[in-house]
Amino acid sequence: MVNSGTEPAAPPQVLIAGAGPVGLTAAHELARRGLRVRLVDAAPGPARTSRAVATHPRTLETYDQMGVVDAMLARGRRNAAFTMYAEGRRLVRLQADYASMPTAYPFTLVIGQTETEAVLREAVARLGVRIEWGVRLTGLDQHPDGVRVTLEDADGARSTADVSWLVGCDGGHSTVRKLLGLELAGTSSETWMLADVPVTMDLPPDTIYWAHTGGQALMMVPYAREGHWRLLDTVPDRDPAGAEERLGAKLSKGLGRQVTVGPSEWTSVFTFQQRRVDRMREGRVFVAGDAAHVHSPASGQGMNTGVQEAYNLAWKLAQVEQGHAADRLLDSYGAERVPIGAALLDSTRTATVLVQLKNLLAAAVLPVVFTVVRNVTPLRRAIQRKVLGGMSGLRIGYGASPLTTAGAAATGPAPGGRARAVALDGLEPTVREAFAAELRDVRWSLLLGAGGTGPGDVPVGVAVTAAAQYAEWLSVRTLGGRADGSEGPAPLPDPGAALRTALGLRPGSWLLVRPDGYVAARGPVLSRTALDRALAPVGPSAPLALPARVEPRAVSVHPATTKEHRS
Ligand SMILES: Cc1cc2nc3c(=O)[nH]c(=O)nc-3n(C[C@H](O)[C@H](O)[C@H](O)COP(=O)(O)OP(=O)(O)OC[C@H]3O[C@@H](n4cnc5c(N)ncnc54)[C@H](O)[C@@H]3O)c2cc1C
Repeated sequence: MVNSGTEPAAPPQVLIAGAGPVGLTAAHELARRGLRVRLVDAAPGPARTSRAVATHPRTLETYDQMGVVDAMLARGRRNAAFTMYAEGRRLVRLQADYASMPTAYPFTLVIGQTETEAVLREAVARLGVRIEWGVRLTGLDQHPDGVRVTLEDADGARSTADVSWLVGCDGGHSTVRKLLGLELAGTSSETWMLADVPVTMDLPPDTIYWAHTGGQALMMVPYAREGHWRLLDTVPDRDPAGAEERLGAKLSKGLGRQVTVGPSEWTSVFTFQQRRVDRMREGRVFVAGDAAHVHSPASGQGMNTGVQEAYNLAWKLAQVEQGHAADRLLDSYGAERVPIGAALLDSTRTATVLVQLKNLLAAAVLPVVFTVVRNVTPLRRAIQRKVLGGMSGLRIGYGASPLTTAGAAATGPAPGGRARAVALDGLEPTVREAFAAELRDVRWSLLLGAGGTGPGDVPVGVAVTAAAQYAEWLSVRTLGGRADGSEGPAPLPDPGAALRTALGLRPGSWLLVRPDGYVAARGPVLSRTALDRALAPVGPSAPLALPARVEPRAVSVHPATTKEHRS
């Protein structure tokens, strides 16, 4: 719970069931916005073994917004290549090519889930959130103003708690989902084995390896710790005895060299499911992460998706709870995330087929196919882009969301897409960092191109009014312009207009960015009508109260708004 000094602790507003990566992300983002959070987990303490090992670029961008990315990067290994072998022959090395998907994190970070959770636990602790281990949610009862939850501690003692909202981040066997009666529809799928092991071989750990033995495939993912790998066997033997020798023999055959697998730190034979819910909200209760969808680990998507889901939900919940948005904003959570869960099942199903490649005929034609892929550069690049586009999360967007309103620009990010989807390499580091810092703000961002005036609703006047009226949940920044703020509020220095060019902003034009970094709307001239229309789906407490006539030089401009949250 958020510690409020020596005052008696106020009751929590949100209860989160489950302190896995998704529950921790939700707790962090709610607490960062000033909500009082209670976080309970049925387990006696943190997990000691890692399921997820791959954290993809969009999640790294999300961690950047949360302020935890550096701690993650310090504990992981950056991987940007995928190398395929079949029966001892190297087929192709696919190098990550993010040219068409600009990102500050053009790689997958290999980091064990235990490490990820440790970073997140430290981050929530800094915000005053204490994790209550050994506390299981067993019941819930909703009423119009809140939810009464039943909790059971490790000794079986029961208690109840009243909260405004409940978020079920309680994993694949989610009690919250079951209590809501949400069906996890789908099928069971394959049985694979994972092993965390030391490996000795003469190939470098600068890539993920895929090795086909002729009859089956295995994957090897290099951990940051030298010589340590995550192995994935798609046709496992259920007998754990001799697993290392069997893995070593299979990898030696696939990679065509001596591979010695040392004693396992952990092995697990698991059958995964391909299932999802078709609703993620029921009144004041939500589900996120594995509670809402479970699927193959083939392209490492489950945790990545769940983290982004928790982030998506948290800012909306905070904004509604704090009275800055209408309840309908919360419906956009499911509207945006259910289709992503559905697409995920399709993409992971395909990835499963490709990763395990059990079809013997396909195995026979592999060398032919990949000789072509290797030698035809445009084809290789197209495959790289297609695979990366799906896996990285960078192409996920909310173009069809009720929160995305019209607006397009010849250049710069389109509504529904990531605001960071622009090449920032040419920018001065201070400008790049100022832009990243703006996206870390817990509020929406309205970015105005400096130098714009116009008839009627003058862009600068609209920006100044919005900055004052919506300050608690909207950060208004003028890109470029005079430091005294006379060309718009809270100037963000942009020498040479490089950032404005990248974002496609001209004098007086604007870009509205949601707290999760997606563009909601943009337009050529900032006006009251345009801003009201863009914000209508959010339902701010009152429309913009603009004076009848605003002269840009006459308005008093507030100093730069702080980057801290304003709870
Ligand atoms: C082999 C394997 C490899 C994977 N690799 C990747 C990968 O590389 N990348 C990736 O993104 N994903 C990967 N995944 C998926 C990833 O591990 C999950 O998607 C992720 O753990 C989901 O996080 P979560 O917080 O939703 O659930 P969990 O991590 O399952 O956490 C749920 C928490 O809720 C608690 N809980 C359960 N019931 C209750 C209750 N009633 N009350 C209170 N607490 C409760 C549990 O104790 C647990 O701590 C992999 C999965 C597997 C099996």
